[in-house]
Amino acid sequence: MNPTATHPAAQFDIQRVRADFPILNELVHGKPLIYLDNAATSQKPNPVIKALDEYYRRYNSNIHRGVHALAERATEAYESSRRKIARYLNAPNQHEIIFTRGTTESINLVASSYATSVLKPGDEVLITWLEHHSNIVPWQIACEKTGAVLKVVPINERGEVEPDQFEAMLSERTKIVAFAHISNALGTINPVREFTEMAHRAGAVVIIDGAQAAPHMRVDVQAIGCDFYALSGHKMFGPTGIGVLWGRTSLLDKMPPYQGGGDMIQSVTFEKTVYNDLPYKFEAGTPHIAGGIGLGAAVDYLDALDAEGIMAHEHDLTRYATEQLSQIEGLRLIGTAANKVSVLSFTLEGIHPYDMAPVLDHEGVAVRTGHHCAQPVMDRYQIPATVRASIAFYNTRQDIDALVAALAKVQRMFSGL
Ligand code: PMP
Repeated sequence: MNPTATHPAAQFDIQRVRADFPILNELVHGKPLIYLDNAATSQKPNPVIKALDEYYRRYNSNIHRGVHALAERATEAYESSRRKIARYLNAPNQHEIIFTRGTTESINLVASSYATSVLKPGDEVLITWLEHHSNIVPWQIACEKTGAVLKVVPINERGEVEPDQFEAMLSERTKIVAFAHISNALGTINPVREFTEMAHRAGAVVIIDGAQAAPHMRVDVQAIGCDFYALSGHKMFGPTGIGVLWGRTSLLDKMPPYQGGGDMIQSVTFEKTVYNDLPYKFEAGTPHIAGGIGLGAAVDYLDALDAEGIMAHEHDLTRYATEQLSQIEGLRLIGTAANKVSVLSFTLEGIHPYDMAPVLDHEGVAVRTGHHCAQPVMDRYQIPATVRASIAFYNTRQDIDALVAALAKVQRMFSGL
């Protein structure tokens, strides 16, 4: 039997995929770019760049209102992206796909529209210690406005939310539960289906922050069973400034608009405004048309890739990177969950992460340094910051070797050798 026919990682043609991402040929400080900052934003393949270029070159026009050819073409391209995304997420209805600026806006939409209209004093909103600031602060604001109380499920030393602890914090007071599918700071994958079932048993509505999941795995909102799912286009190889909120029709229908303006209305008089149907009720003003079209191109691109092959390749790289980094003296990996994706956060003894960053950059290695918009996670480990290397499917073992070599240089510089 040909092993390449059975091993998914072997089927995944990394060189062909890398050729789709022109930026990977760039030199940085005269050295080949080693892009390991994918959790911050991922790079864009040619079809996405082409879709943006083509829209602006050939049919730039406002959508939904115009009756001329360009407007019709732009409207059709934008709405066809919505259909693609609905299919990609296995959403039951395409009108449940609300275009937003990204995960941050998607969560704010739910916190502002849904949460503030249902929460009463003494109700509880449950989040976890893993959350990005964008899945903390909107809930703090909603709680402040309504008198509800924010509760936080702790994490263990490996950076996991333990299901028992999660369940123990649910009660009939819990009205909303919000958690990340995957942690951006640690890479931990939460058992989203199990958590959703627990939250539903307690009678709560569930919103999942999927910013870090969509680039690494196929997301099926019906299989997860959640009520809302938020994601960002730019993390899943699409443009910046565009994202999605998926929500159940039964909830979205009852929610008040998030913003008022053009496109979200059916009729306006000074006495009374009638709101538009879904999804437009939540899409006031001219949207990021090129972004929506570009995100559709990203979804097409991802759809055509071998999803299993990608997962196997990323899994292999994560294991390799973990092994290689663990051999560096004084390196402490932060986030060692049993179930995690390709995010490697670490500190080096005696060297502040901010001092490492310029040396790594000089070697052409792009990583993230800081608290990763997850200060409570840093507090949990009593550290100010980490260096975070985050892998995408176009990364290679050579990229990891380059990171390890650059870290050796950092250590040599700071030990005065
Ligand atoms: N949640 C998580 C887990 C993230 O990683 C990020 C981006 N770092 C966000 C939310 C916010 O996404 P955006 O800035 O695209 O709105």
